[in-house]
Amino acid sequence: MRFMLREHYLYPELLCEQEDVTHPISSIPSWRTPSVNLTYSFNKSLQQKLSGKHLLLDELSFPLSLIQRHYENGYLTYHKGIKGTTTLHCNRCGNEKTHLFGSFHCARCKQVCMYCRSCIQMGRVSQCTPLLTWCGPPLKHAVLKNNVLQWRGHLSSAQQVASAEMMKTIRTTQDLLIWAVCGAGKTEVLFQGIEEALCAGKSVCIATPRTDVVIELQPRLQQAFPDVKVVALYSGSPDKDQSSLLVLSTTHQLLRYYEAFDVMIIDEVDAFPYSVEIMLQYAVQKACKKQAAIIYLTATPNEQWKQEVATNKRHVVKIPARYHRKPIPVPEFQWCGNWQKFLEKKKLSLSVIRWLTARIEHNKQCFLFIPNLKWISMIVDVVKELTWKVAGVHAEDEHRKQKIEQFRKGKLLILVTTTILERGVTIPNLDVAVLGAENNIFTESALVQIAGRVGRSADFPTGDIVFFHFGQTAAMQQARKHIIDMNNLAKKQGLIDL
Ligand SMILES: [Zn+2]
Ligand SMILES: [Zn+2]
Repeated sequence: MRFMLREHYLYPELLCEQEDVTHPISSIPSWRTPSVNLTYSFNKSLQQKLSGKHLLLDELSFPLSLIQRHYENGYLTYHKGIKGTTTLHCNRCGNEKTHLFGSFHCARCKQVCMYCRSCIQMGRVSQCTPLLTWCGPPLKHAVLKNNVLQWRGHLSSAQQVASAEMMKTIRTTQDLLIWAVCGAGKTEVLFQGIEEALCAGKSVCIATPRTDVVIELQPRLQQAFPDVKVVALYSGSPDKDQSSLLVLSTTHQLLRYYEAFDVMIIDEVDAFPYSVEIMLQYAVQKACKKQAAIIYLTATPNEQWKQEVATNKRHVVKIPARYHRKPIPVPEFQWCGNWQKFLEKKKLSLSVIRWLTARIEHNKQCFLFIPNLKWISMIVDVVKELTWKVAGVHAEDEHRKQKIEQFRKGKLLILVTTTILERGVTIPNLDVAVLGAENNIFTESALVQIAGRVGRSADFPTGDIVFFHFGQTAAMQQARKHIIDMNNLAKKQGLIDL
């Protein structure tokens, strides 16, 4: 949109007189936002919609004149969608890569206009697009009494230590890494900190890279905090326009937020795509208030973070044991020969066949992880000669959810899978094998996560985990060492029942 600048203040073209000189917002060097006029009776639904957000005019179904009056009375402010002239910077997603900007003949600013391709799926941000945010009085949420937390479980001593550290971090608005082994019960660790924050009127966001996690976590959080609406945000979510002190969001959806949260909890901080997409990391930073506490959760921090932990540069609390106080099963390595050659002859290595047969005889469910989806159907065919209760899944499989559901119900015994099931899935009594563990898709953290599927429930705290390989890799050894180190630390701290 074009704007006129009059005495340092902006006026949108559509509200200007014909003879007024206007410019696309990106060409206006700077402007002011009036200070808040407390006598102005502002629109409550606009406040609700825009508080803590960073939205396009297209995302606001309010008349432009009403929006402009709120600006003139100091209740909202306009930001440039894209700033800079030679190097461009998208204010919504942080993109600065030249090849991720496109150009088009724009009807709104009547000239060639650059737009950001990086965040285009959330609506187009171009050089003439303002991003709006609320700067009037903050949205008032119902005051919460103490005891908003209705969860009545008990934390293990390791969980309690982490929970206390998290509360301290929230009070002092610092950063904290919670390094919790797979199956530690990290969600419960968050509860007391969230409760204390909510009672102090602080806004809390739990962000995760994955939609499945948002959908799975919402009912659990809602049950723990029945008096607070848990707003869940993901692409296509019905909660999109709702506001609450407690928000559960994919990292993607946070692109629409601006200085909104006092407490940001990022789950699975090392998971794809958050770990590799700078845009998502920018979105999380932008969604935090200037003074915010940030809690990072992971079972498998990346190398850089591990270094920072080792050199005391990162504030960390470790939960080295599972809540059920049993050690994490340590992976066993088994050489299985050139398994790809076997597969070319539509066969599986004998050691793998033996392992699968033993599961079938004992009617024990298992996952068989493989490095590439191209082998799934062939392996499923071979295993079908042993049992019919087998299926394969991968990321693009449209029946993925149904197959996992069938597996949960016990209708399937063996699930052949790519790394998509390395996280998030909890099956009570499970054995796990990796075929081709030497493949470089199986990084240390992937293998630790995969091994972490075994022995998670208190009723079945043990299980078999085997890495079938055609030559050991450093990643395999590091993964095993990672698990042994955590078990040893847990023993030392008296967190494991021997
Ligand atoms: Zn962008
Ligand atoms: Zn334009």
